[in-house]
Amino acid sequence: MTLATLKFSAETASLMASFGVDAKALTGGTLSVRSPINGEAIAAVAEISADDTRKAIDAAHKAFLEWRLVPAPQRGELIRLLGEELRAAKTELGRLVSIEVGKITSEGLGEVQEMIDICDFAVGLSRQLYGLTIATERAEHRMMETWHPLGVTGIISAFNFPVAVWSWNAALALVCGNSTIWKPSEKTPLTAIATQAIFEKAVKRYNAQGGKAPANLSTLLIGGRDIGEILVDHPKVPLISATGSTAMGRAVGPRVAARFGRSILELGGNNAAIVGLTADLDLTLRGVAFSAMGTAGQRCTTLRRLFVHESVYDTLVPRLIKAYGSVTIGNPLEAGNLIGPLIDKGSYERMQHALEAAKANGGKVHGGDRVRSDEAAEAFYVRPALVEMPEQCGPVVEETFAPILYVIKYANFDDALALNNDVPQGLSSSIFTNDIREAEAFVSDRGSDCGIANVNIGPSGAEIGGAFGGEKETGGGRESGSDSWKAYMRRQTNTVNYGRTLPLAQGVKFDI
Ligand code: NAD
Repeated sequence: MTLATLKFSAETASLMASFGVDAKALTGGTLSVRSPINGEAIAAVAEISADDTRKAIDAAHKAFLEWRLVPAPQRGELIRLLGEELRAAKTELGRLVSIEVGKITSEGLGEVQEMIDICDFAVGLSRQLYGLTIATERAEHRMMETWHPLGVTGIISAFNFPVAVWSWNAALALVCGNSTIWKPSEKTPLTAIATQAIFEKAVKRYNAQGGKAPANLSTLLIGGRDIGEILVDHPKVPLISATGSTAMGRAVGPRVAARFGRSILELGGNNAAIVGLTADLDLTLRGVAFSAMGTAGQRCTTLRRLFVHESVYDTLVPRLIKAYGSVTIGNPLEAGNLIGPLIDKGSYERMQHALEAAKANGGKVHGGDRVRSDEAAEAFYVRPALVEMPEQCGPVVEETFAPILYVIKYANFDDALALNNDVPQGLSSSIFTNDIREAEAFVSDRGSDCGIANVNIGPSGAEIGGAFGGEKETGGGRESGSDSWKAYMRRQTNTVNYGRTLPLAQGVKFDI
């Protein structure tokens, strides 16, 4: 079957119906949705107005005022039900992710699995929103730290993880007692509408079993950057969690800070791996191939820079070039294809531009050409590009959101480590080595400066149990596991005097 003969409109409507979305929601709107698999227009959905956005924020604030009164473990029960609904809808939602974003089947399903995993994590968390008891210098006093709900959590998400990013934020924000309001990427409204419908199913079950989830606990705003900007500026949204490009974060961060709001910024990455002279090259080859080519290079954690020790360069790099030449590219829903399409034409053009710039800087390009354009003119499939670079310069220090791997030879471990850190972004990194000194140095204080640093696995493909995010131009935010939940709550220090005197701290006297 060629790409041109594939048709997704009817299947999309039937998938949406399976989540309970009315067919009318898919036609007649101003936002046109296309599948990157074959470029076909699959829906035209309605966009929210600026006025309605403001009303929605007010309604979300009201929902917060009620939800914060529900005990946290009972809030966790709603997320448990959400996890159940997601389990039931996994096949369909995973398929819709593939149709709307172009991910291969296992990655579409994996994205939904990630949503399920964070729900499980958040259910446990709902009984573990711990504060400290702190030693006090005053007799008959107790000092402690308590954590309280914050308010409306604004979520702005990128196209490449169209639903998982919402769940990382929403599952935590909701058990923490917040309401949420979500502005997904304008490129992926369908998976967002589906997710909202699945959430509403969970709410219905929750309330039917006696739960008290208010209306507008989770709100979806379909619209462009202007709608995101209203969220960013609104005083009733104390926390903005924004995932996307560094350019977006540069606009959003200062605006939220100007009103003393809080932000979690999850921005672009330019992730590297070092291959040491003792590396297991079979394992390295697999780790590099998945990290650099998987998801057609459209993960924030995609491997983009590879520093290879000179003693293994001539063994590893030809094997990698061979893998790049033979990897299967095509319809991501067809078993056997490992590389799906780029999201759109703009993405393809930026990739070609970066490859030209690499050549101008002395790079030797393998691959990178467009394939299957004769089958569907509006679908953009590329052979992943491996570029041998003489040094780290030009496009190598930028994030191009496409499958380009820049490979650079090194002689000295400390130089490779310096190169790893010598870019503006700081999301993920890894080292392939069997030398314990190199491995430990890489994850030490003098090692990688990224939010994620791995040994003998690539930089891409995080689990929800750890805190996720990065430093420098990646924005500094942390989401998902570990103690990331603290960003969704406000901390309060409480001192309680259970005595009959009033000793002042630091021995201060004030007798009246
Ligand atoms: P993008 O920056 O174009 O858009 C992301 C979202 O921000 C969209 O919903 C968009 O409408 C909104 N937006 C853009 N400008 C805005 C503004 N001024 N105010 C409010 N909202 C605004 O990103 P994209 O192309 O969808 O996604 C790819 C980028 O996202 C890559 O750079 C990738 O590295 C990054 N990303 C980062 C992470 C992470 O966790 N660090 C995860 C996924 C993607």
